[in-house]
Amino acid sequence: MNIFEEMAKYGYEQLVFFYDKETGLKGITCIHDTTLGPALGGTRLWNYATEEEAIIDVLRLARGMTYKNAAAGLNIGGGKTVLIGDASKVKSEAYFRAFGRFVQSLNGRYITAEDVNTNVNDMDYVAMETKYITGLRKTSGDPSPFTALGVYVGIKASCKEKFGDDSLKGRTIAVQGVGSVGYNLVKHLISEGANVVICDIKQSNIDRCVNEFPVTVVEPDKIYDVECDVFAPCALGAVINDDTIPRLKCKIVAGSANNVLKEERHAEELEKRGILYAPDYVINAGGVINVYQEILGYDKQEAEAKVKRIYERLLEVYRIAKEEGITTAKAADRMAEKRIQTIKNIRSNYIK
Ligand code: NAD
Repeated sequence: MNIFEEMAKYGYEQLVFFYDKETGLKGITCIHDTTLGPALGGTRLWNYATEEEAIIDVLRLARGMTYKNAAAGLNIGGGKTVLIGDASKVKSEAYFRAFGRFVQSLNGRYITAEDVNTNVNDMDYVAMETKYITGLRKTSGDPSPFTALGVYVGIKASCKEKFGDDSLKGRTIAVQGVGSVGYNLVKHLISEGANVVICDIKQSNIDRCVNEFPVTVVEPDKIYDVECDVFAPCALGAVINDDTIPRLKCKIVAGSANNVLKEERHAEELEKRGILYAPDYVINAGGVINVYQEILGYDKQEAEAKVKRIYERLLEVYRIAKEEGITTAKAADRMAEKRIQTIKNIRSNYIK
């Protein structure tokens, strides 16, 4: 692959490779855009088959963070780290501390956090070597309840848009995946009097919901066929695709899963069927809004109040989509790009 061509295409600022012989640490940090502030994005540990695969992934993920952070109204840019290795073999205190020193060497241009295959314990080691880290156990803690709160208000905003009324009382909502986010989402939905249908591939997670809430359970593959107002994917990405779209009997797709559309064109397919799509990175930003609060000085109430603004952000996305005649997915991108451009412009003057 031609790296500089790729960087030029999407305006990447920096791609940093680092290696530590003793611990076998091999990693790549990508800083996509720092117009709004330091690049924030988690550290993913994955056994990539090739180095090219790792580069493609870190570029894609870092750019995604720029859009997510900008659309969430945060003063941070987008970045990401991928560590190449087998999570069951490479992890050690020295490994993560070696990584922490590389993060520190970027001098605050990049702030890290946990992501796939890294956890708060690993991040405690990273934090021994760098102050440019967030989402630590001792401060903001588990982001999932905040992500769930954002999805909950996002579902209400989507109902407001689609039905003219944001009450969830009596509405049927199908939740795919009741793990960390899904479980907390169900709690909000039930407390507002919604009829909730759930599925999961993990029996213990189903049992936890059934024991606490009056929910209906369906087989994992049947969730797409459920007659409902809202389908809330909270498990995997790419579940909105050519196979599932014709089966959907919902009016709204709004959940926490990242990259929920298999391809961009699936946003148009949903629109053609009159299904309102809440763009994933706008509705699932509660977690990042919460960890950002840690950078400002952690305050739970403040974090929750900011997460609840996802309601207005989604209404803004829907307004842009209607005004410009574009899909809601494209409208979210426009909203993020516009914010970056506007802030770039107001910062163009000299201040001593
Ligand atoms: P999780 O692993 O705790 O929960 C996912 C649940 O989905 C699990 O219970 C799992 O058994 C279930 N699942 C997996 N495959 C399934 C299938 N085919 N059908 C039904 N259920 C299935 O993860 P999470 O932290 O709750 O995150 C859920 C989704 O939201 C992920 O896509 C994640 O990337 C995204 N997300 C999470 C956060 C967060 O704060 N945790 C933030 C932003 C986005």
